[in-house]
Amino acid sequence: MLYTTIQQAAPALRDAMTAARHILVTSHINPDGDAVGSSIGLTRILRAMGCRVTMVLPTELPSLAVVLPDAPEVGVYSQGASLPADVDLVVLVDTGSISRIEPIFSAERAYLAQRPLLVIDHHATNSGEGFLNLVMTEAAATCEILGLLAQAWNQAIDAETATALLMGLVTDTQSFQTSHTSPRTLRVAADLLALGGRLNEVMRSMMYGKPFAHAKALGMAIERMHDEGDIIWTEFTQAMQQGTGADDEAGDEITAYLSRVATAKAYVLFKERRDGTVKISMRSQPGIDVGSVAHSLGGGGHREAAGATLQLGLDEARDLVLSTLRVALA
Ligand code: 5GP
Ligand code: MN
Repeated sequence: MLYTTIQQAAPALRDAMTAARHILVTSHINPDGDAVGSSIGLTRILRAMGCRVTMVLPTELPSLAVVLPDAPEVGVYSQGASLPADVDLVVLVDTGSISRIEPIFSAERAYLAQRPLLVIDHHATNSGEGFLNLVMTEAAATCEILGLLAQAWNQAIDAETATALLMGLVTDTQSFQTSHTSPRTLRVAADLLALGGRLNEVMRSMMYGKPFAHAKALGMAIERMHDEGDIIWTEFTQAMQQGTGADDEAGDEITAYLSRVATAKAYVLFKERRDGTVKISMRSQPGIDVGSVAHSLGGGGHREAAGATLQLGLDEARDLVLSTLRVALA
């Protein structure tokens, strides 16, 4: 069943979750603020409803998660570790497809196949793989959906839950700057702030909590920016990462900076991963769809923010992505 409104979904989702004995909440690889905020926020809401919940994320949490006291409780999956056997409901948040929870997806195929899946998400590329899916593509963040869901359930939200949900709202809207920031997004955020959510701490950890190495990496990436008219792109190579000591998260900084230049329609960061693959992050001007380009390359995301992982070297990835993008923009 695929729901697209809170009103229709709220009773069915509550029935499924309160009937479960043990719920596993998870989200995508390289979890961002919305993945972490929605995992922790939903877990806290469900526990307040009396549910037993375990959180496991596929890979390490982003550094901004330090402002959430529950972050240390989130299990980070390690190969060979087993997931709780008595789980009888898997809830996937902020993720378009269960295949995006690698390495869990490959290692735990049988485990996942044996358990019902419930999905709460806002990605346009979500294919509705669960037996119950709430996919609201107009929502700015999965955390926006959860704020509305708690209201529909008449479930009180405490200050820590509000802070977790604010993290998703702030990160996915880049501090309420993106075009999908709606009156409803701001109303949900205002409600969460009124409930004691620590908005300013979330903002500070996102905007002003960067390591020095990120600034150095950003400088190098800006130096290498290419202006091709409709497309502006740059790269973040392994050599740059090793030379500066910047980690993967510096890529978010670079992507955000690229899209500040007004003259282009689309922006691409090519990030060389340690395993030799290339992760691309694309952004676009309002109304320009890079989500379908990412989808055609095996990735996904939103119209104006999307990505993919390519099993190609940096040069090949650049040729493929830029030529695909030029066709799409023409
Ligand atoms: P970012 O560029 O910030 O990593 O991701 C932007 C958006 O694209 C996010 O919504 C993210 O979930 C999605 N995205 C990024 N990389 C991938 C990918 O490899 N596969 C899919 N399906 N979506 C991705
Ligand atoms: Mn999201």
